[in-house]
Amino acid sequence: MVCPFCQHNDDKVIDSRPTDGAAAIRRRRECLKCGKRFTTFERVEEAAKIMVVKRDGTHVPFSRDSIVRGVQAACGKRPISEEAKQRLVSLVEESVYHDFEREVPSSEIGKRVCERLRALDEVAYIRFASEYHRFKDVSELAAELQSMANRVKDVKDQQKLF
Ligand SMILES: [Zn+2]
Repeated sequence: MVCPFCQHNDDKVIDSRPTDGAAAIRRRRECLKCGKRFTTFERVEEAAKIMVVKRDGTHVPFSRDSIVRGVQAACGKRPISEEAKQRLVSLVEESVYHDFEREVPSSEIGKRVCERLRALDEVAYIRFASEYHRFKDVSELAAELQSMANRVKDVKDQQKLF
């Protein structure tokens, strides 16, 4: 990095920390010539971002925000903390970046959100799953609702035993 004070081109990094939700790295640098300090930000290049392939074949850059919005819409007023939602999205984001390099089908992202929402809150899960058309048809959705109803019944039956 060229020093903004003396234009000397040699410095040492004295501090590095993630910022902007880990989308950028903030580095504190010290010029080796004049000793003044300055800050740089390092960002993942837009082009290096994974592209999401939508159902209709169009490509859009991977967006954490759009997943967050989907999860928040599905959760509605359910008693789920903001932290739990953000953590869920982070885990999905990490797994996508781990398993895919250039492109990821939108259905794959939807599937991963579904899996994690299901463990978190069944109502939010059903809302999200139907929203993202994970279910191929209504009968599949009906089967899922039925198995949910059965699970609720199991809990009630268990309560009757006491
Ligand atoms: Zn300098």
